[in-house]
Amino acid sequence: MDAKILVLPGDGIGPEVTAKSVAALEKVASRFGHRFVFEEALMGGIAIDKTGTALPDETIKAAEGCDAILLGAVGGPKWDNPSAAVRPEQGLLKIRQHFGLFANLRPVKAYPMLAEHAPLRRELLEGVDMLFVRELTGGIYFGARQEQGESDRAYDTMLYSVDEVKRVADVAFRAAQGRRKKVTSIDKANVLAAMRLWRRTVVEVHEDFSDVALEHLLVDAATMHMLTRPASFDVILAGNMFGDILSDEASVLAGSLGMLPSASLRSDTFGLYEPIHGSAPDIAGQGKANPTGTILSAALLLRYSLRLEAEAQAVEQAVEQTLAEGARTADIAPRGGPYVSTDEFAATVLAHI
Ligand code: NAD
Repeated sequence: MDAKILVLPGDGIGPEVTAKSVAALEKVASRFGHRFVFEEALMGGIAIDKTGTALPDETIKAAEGCDAILLGAVGGPKWDNPSAAVRPEQGLLKIRQHFGLFANLRPVKAYPMLAEHAPLRRELLEGVDMLFVRELTGGIYFGARQEQGESDRAYDTMLYSVDEVKRVADVAFRAAQGRRKKVTSIDKANVLAAMRLWRRTVVEVHEDFSDVALEHLLVDAATMHMLTRPASFDVILAGNMFGDILSDEASVLAGSLGMLPSASLRSDTFGLYEPIHGSAPDIAGQGKANPTGTILSAALLLRYSLRLEAEAQAVEQAVEQTLAEGARTADIAPRGGPYVSTDEFAATVLAHI
């Protein structure tokens, strides 16, 4: 298969980890007989420095000609001034909105070989394998807002339409059909009107998926269940803000932020793939970054945008084999224990593809 992939390395460790997932995709191409063409463009702080905007028009144009986007991370202390008119994260919100990427998928798996050093007891982590489906282009991050400005008040608005909830709920139920057939929908229906609409709509969509079990949890209770019974979750469906918070909480189950990938999708096969971590300026340029989240994002790209399931699994298995053999980057190494560099870890993964 021929495919064109836009790479947005971004800031901090972004370029270090995207280089490894491009290498993994190149290995997949040569091993399985595909032709992947990579194009690179600017986004985030580096784009602000070079063009004055976090997401230049040329980047959007380049993305429009591609099958998928692979993104590293954006941001860093240099651009962290909250009152600045131009900020790196604006690029993230803008690209999601521009391409209508309304569903963010984040698989979270607890690897048994990392359980020893996880903050939760080993028996709680057994069988943890969940998929977050987070609504990404609506809700409180996109509703009407009033910045404080001259006044002593500020507000944000949580707004959802039935159609917005329907399309993301549909993604969640379909995903559950290919998994353990359970969806847990997160809301705050006891307090928020937008979340009552959310629950009502999820119940409606569920009528078309009688083979899937549906559970509702209030977000506050969900934060607790995530740590007391994590293995009981299969697909977790949540709005933009609650999904953001809960999926970061769940990342603890995987041992490190550096382990987790994500896919942002719409109704066709176009998608944006990125690790869930940020630009980690504290370790940038030191060869300490864990490339797993970005390499597993490349696996999701193969699965969802290119529909190459065997190739996606080959990458995921190569990561598991690397971990099973004991290779650890600094973030997942036992305290004070030996660890390998980003380059060494990625080379082992590549060798196993
Ligand atoms: P972060 O995810 O960058 O880092 C949090 C901690 O996790 C740090 O100690 C870091 O060293 C560690 N870490 C993260 N990824 C790692 C990896 N792959 N391997 C090993 N360790 C890893 O979050 P932060 O420190 O809150 O934010 C830093 C910058 O990143 C900020 O400017 C923030 O705005 C930005 N950010 C960007 C994104 C994104 O691009 N999607 C997401 C979150 C934060």
